[in-house]
Amino acid sequence: MKNPVSLPESNALKNLPSIDALLQTETAAQNLENLGLPHLTNLAREAVAEVRRRMQTDFSKNIENSSKEELLSTTEKTLLKLIRQEENLKIRRVINATGVIIHTNLGRAPLPEAARQAIFEEASRYCTLEYDSETGKRGKRGSYAEKLLAELTGAEDALIVNNCAAACILVLNALAAGGEAILSRGEMVEIGGDFRIPDVMEQSGAILREVGATNKTRVSDYEKALSEKTRLILKVHPSNYRIIGFAETPSIKELVALARRHDVLVYEDAGSGALLDLSEFGLKDEPVISESVRAGADVVTFSGDKLLGGVQSGLIVGKQGIITKLRKHPLYRALRADKLIYAALEATLKHYRLQQYAEIPVWQMLSLSAQEIERKTESFLKSFLEKADVECGLQAEIIAGKSVIGGGSAPAVQPTTALLALTHPNLSATHLENYLRNCEPPVITRIIEDKVMLDFRTIFPDEEPALLKILLEFCAKNY
Ligand SMILES: *Cc1c(COP(=O)(O)O)cnc(C)c1O
Repeated sequence: MKNPVSLPESNALKNLPSIDALLQTETAAQNLENLGLPHLTNLAREAVAEVRRRMQTDFSKNIENSSKEELLSTTEKTLLKLIRQEENLKIRRVINATGVIIHTNLGRAPLPEAARQAIFEEASRYCTLEYDSETGKRGKRGSYAEKLLAELTGAEDALIVNNCAAACILVLNALAAGGEAILSRGEMVEIGGDFRIPDVMEQSGAILREVGATNKTRVSDYEKALSEKTRLILKVHPSNYRIIGFAETPSIKELVALARRHDVLVYEDAGSGALLDLSEFGLKDEPVISESVRAGADVVTFSGDKLLGGVQSGLIVGKQGIITKLRKHPLYRALRADKLIYAALEATLKHYRLQQYAEIPVWQMLSLSAQEIERKTESFLKSFLEKADVECGLQAEIIAGKSVIGGGSAPAVQPTTALLALTHPNLSATHLENYLRNCEPPVITRIIEDKVMLDFRTIFPDEEPALLKILLEFCAKNY
């Protein structure tokens, strides 16, 4: 048995390349400009240290007996691996072929073209963030986006913060801290990652008063819980799950009627933030913000990057007095949005004003029928087959499947779609999926029944040439 301690260390380890030698390699030369010498030198040190560690601990590959040249090559490969690992941390564009429209890990909603332009053209240098160019005096940040939001939801006023979680904390803190907020046991939800209503409530300083049962909560349950300590009745949209069957929960209208009698507020955390009626897309139980406002909710919060189809932001609409109170709250200063966000939101909300829903990618993707997607997929497959080598092992067929809305919205709705199913006689689906994910740009796919599936619902038409190139390059590799 080999023992690292008895290894003739000086002999084997002296073959390790010097940092200088590693910096002379082609890998180093190719990355010098991009990384700069100081950082490249650090990575080179790390690479040498890693190979030294492997020589001392991993005897399976016999690297401790490598020649000087072999060790230089091993260390160069390690350097390249470290460089790639770091590059992979960067935000990079990807092709989303998963068919998940609001893909949380891929940045939720893709932005409308006008929003991308607005970020770049209007907001990325100096801009009128808090400046009134007519009077030359200080202006109110976010005025235009807030005006559009109020107009589109029928609310008296609106306020914008960083995300819906921030909006919840601000509202609960400003309106219920030190008092009680009543919430149904069926709505004590966790929404992706770390956002749990009971925890948010605790952070806000409001006391959670649970009522009802998981599946059934009646107006009378809320009524019994009301006391002089009650500040508001909270309604939370369950977003990423549904209770089906023997279930019941009061409408906003009923809660408003109760709240009015007892002089408390009604706050709805709607989550997804649909600005229009979604029933024609089969999304029946997503709350439409204007309906909650019309039903009398005092304040409603929702996300800007879920069904609304814009940037990450927390949108708050409600009664004038409440919004003013929120705007003046010290927490607002910590939670307020950046100029890029206002620019993107303005452009997105303007599409809603003009009813240009096709300009909002989330809606454009949602509205595609399975037939339309099948036609897109067929035409892509045709170009692929025309250009691909007859020898190419990649097998492609079009099959029926389901897309996913994602982002914790409408979990029960899965629009039918057409999928391009890829298989290869010599490569597993996992291998092929991994290959596509490591292309430039990465192509993110799903594996279903040992096939790699591409859903053209979420692939932008102008991404198709890049995707075609990636598949043709794969073919040329003759796996
Ligand atoms: C998604 C969601 C949140 C959190 O929104 P973020 O914008 O991700 O912070 C809060 N409440 C509900 C009901 C949600 O669906």
